[in-house]
Amino acid sequence: MGAFAGVDIGSVAAKAVIMNDRDILSHAVVPTRVSSERSGRMALEQALEKANLRSDDVRFTVATGYGRIVAPFANGTTTEITCHAMGAYYLNPKVRTVLDIGGQDCKAIRVGERGQVVNFVLNDKCAAGTGRFLEVVAKVFEVEVAELGQLCNTATERVPVSSTCTIFAESECISLMARGEKPENIVAGVHYSVGRRVAGLLSRVGVESELAFTGGVGKNVGMQSVVGELLGIAPIGLPGDPQLVGAIGAAIIAKGRAARG
Ligand code: ADP
Repeated sequence: MGAFAGVDIGSVAAKAVIMNDRDILSHAVVPTRVSSERSGRMALEQALEKANLRSDDVRFTVATGYGRIVAPFANGTTTEITCHAMGAYYLNPKVRTVLDIGGQDCKAIRVGERGQVVNFVLNDKCAAGTGRFLEVVAKVFEVEVAELGQLCNTATERVPVSSTCTIFAESECISLMARGEKPENIVAGVHYSVGRRVAGLLSRVGVESELAFTGGVGKNVGMQSVVGELLGIAPIGLPGDPQLVGAIGAAIIAKGRAARG
């Protein structure tokens, strides 16, 4: 049996996925520490261990993500855009648009009938509208980033948050709290402002159903609701963890490259 590996080394987490010819065998997520290479390697080793495999069992490894340039353990590299399109398409072949929000950027991708990238738009100029921004907001309200979306969905109203810069938004949230606004209503305002930026990005590529929401922020239930509301199309649920979609795409590309020799 041959195995294939995809390793997505992002700004927040390194993700690894091991596949055989048909199925996903295992995965691992490791926080990206000082060394991107080390985090990527650790994720790969953990995923191999879970699948009960050794590195020799892997026929081809593709690295993606911003840390892919420092992944000497990989046989090849490819962009996250290609990987998110391919990964989402593998999980649901009806996907034609992908919204990927990770730690430091946000991408809107149009996907073709074979999982190829047709067009894409990227926002990597500023932290607002990314996972890091939501992490900063979670810290202000002393909740885990994993709970921020639930908090958002308990809001009774949205308090407008006008700052688009992370630093200003942080102090705006603090002053709104000091004014007596409820945390959940401020958090809902933050999600809405991120959602509006994201909707703007998506409208530039043109949204076609089905829409998949990938990347770590795809797990945020508050963002899922806001994106659905603003676009009038609810993102479809993909099986498994949206944060792994890039690594899944990389593993599929690894399989294709191994077959081509
Ligand atoms: P990168 O590829 O840049 O490392 P990821 O796609 O791994 O980024 O996404 C990281 C972001 O995902 C974090 O900044 C955080 O906002 C969000 N995130 C991670 N885990 C969760 C979770 N369980 N629930 C909601 N959001 C999450």
